[in-house]
Amino acid sequence: MNARLADLPTALGLDRLATDGALPGASAGAFFAPHGPPILSDDPATGEPLGRVATATLDDYDSVMLAARARFAEWRSRPAPKRAELVRRLGELLREHKEPLGELVSREVGKIKSEGLGEVQEMIDICDFAVGLSRQLYGLTIASERPAHRMMEQWHPAGVVGVITAFNFPVAVWAWNAAIAAVCGDVVVWKPSPLAPLTAIAVQALCDRAAASEDAAGVFNLVVGGPEIGEAMARDRRIPVVSFTGSIPVGRKVAGLVAERLGRSILELGGNNAITVLDDANLALATRAITFGAVGTAGQRCTSTRRVFAQRGVIDALLGRLAKAYGSVTIGDPMAPGTLMGPLVSERAVQAFEAAVAAARAQGGEVVAGGRRRPGPGHFVEPTIVRAPKDAPLPIAAEETFAPILYVFEVGSLDEAIERNNAVSQGLSSAIFTEGLGSAERFLSPAGSDCGIANVNIGTSGAEIGGAFGGEKDSGGGREAGSDAWKAYMRRQTCTVNYGRDLPLAQGVEFPV
Ligand code: NAD
Repeated sequence: MNARLADLPTALGLDRLATDGALPGASAGAFFAPHGPPILSDDPATGEPLGRVATATLDDYDSVMLAARARFAEWRSRPAPKRAELVRRLGELLREHKEPLGELVSREVGKIKSEGLGEVQEMIDICDFAVGLSRQLYGLTIASERPAHRMMEQWHPAGVVGVITAFNFPVAVWAWNAAIAAVCGDVVVWKPSPLAPLTAIAVQALCDRAAASEDAAGVFNLVVGGPEIGEAMARDRRIPVVSFTGSIPVGRKVAGLVAERLGRSILELGGNNAITVLDDANLALATRAITFGAVGTAGQRCTSTRRVFAQRGVIDALLGRLAKAYGSVTIGDPMAPGTLMGPLVSERAVQAFEAAVAAARAQGGEVVAGGRRRPGPGHFVEPTIVRAPKDAPLPIAAEETFAPILYVFEVGSLDEAIERNNAVSQGLSSAIFTEGLGSAERFLSPAGSDCGIANVNIGTSGAEIGGAFGGEKDSGGGREAGSDAWKAYMRRQTCTVNYGRDLPLAQGVEFPV
């Protein structure tokens, strides 16, 4: 194993799992050796390998699924507050290991230390939420039209839930799904991103420890692999619910495969998020929110700010403030104190950045900050601002380039800003900066933003777990985390009980036999 990874506190359990330098990558309650070829996980800040992980074959996947189904047969009948003990224990272990796990997240995907820790905090928060939720899986009681009849809805566990995750939130998104699914009585099979298998293994090690003390081995399962495992999950009729987080093209494919077998999918796909800044906005606030939204996580959040619609009266002042803020962003080792932007995840991501900047220039955009890659090692680029041409379209701004590129457009009015906010195929997150109550409410009204998330005087990224998270249109329509998102992990059953001596039929139908 790579020396830097070996430095991580043994408490994460990674040392226990190391064999000849490779880590196992599939688990059915306890780690076992998968049989597929190993993949290397690289440190995007240095380009050096962090660790080698064995992947699962389709046979390995099948073994995990068989064990998961067997576990579900017991787990679904355990009372929900008892199931929550597993999630409570996991939350405790995450609290104990927040620092090393956050560090591993930072090393493996390159987000700065505070964001790596924030990701683990999000896991802890959702565990807390799920524990409380376990006593609130409420159904309705409905008035029956028939005498001496009672109608009610109850919610039952859905079954084995498949969770396929993206590289950029390598563990938090799993937790949103897994913590809720587990208290709902489901068993979880997780396929993480091949770009972040080490964090997944570390989390699975904590899950196994939590499960050991709660007699719940095999409720959380891990299968490390690439598209072939993801597709197998999408096709697998044994998985009633597939939660997919990732890019729009792959999400479309997964959704098609799940729909073909009439399964349910929860889709959390790409975004192209915009902030509208009106003439009456607090520019200091807007500048901070835009900079965090566009530069944070090196522009690799689904909710990253990619477009700004600035009203004519403030665009120059805003661009001036943004250029100054961008100039103060320290780029470098994500673990170093003071760093605000780490690397992109891979060389491919740097190439996509360069291609987008070149396209923006060719389409008449003016690069007013950044625009270049940084010399290696590591996959570093400059946070970039492109001022859009006034009287020509900027087609590249309709795409989600997973990099810190911000396109700034001038608009004349709130109506124009809303129209352009909604003019792209994605519909994840959006925000407005204004001191005017009327403008803010109009942005939130049915004729306002068409996104799953709409904020006032805060940016597009950094959602809390208490709300239901997700987007509209090509962003997938899924909802995860808080509010009533739990319903997606359960099946609804409508029950009618006749406690009388007659058999009256609904709608007054007569059937004398
Ligand atoms: P990706 O689509 O390349 O990969 C996502 C996952 O899908 C990975 O686990 C990958 O191995 C798997 N996969 C790839 N091909 C597959 C196939 N044919 N069948 C099944 N699974 C397959 O995405 P990425 O580059 O890892 O992540 C970035 C994308 O994810 C961005 O578009 C971002 O906006 C999106 N994202 C969305 C949210 C959200 O909540 N809306 C959150 C995080 C990331």
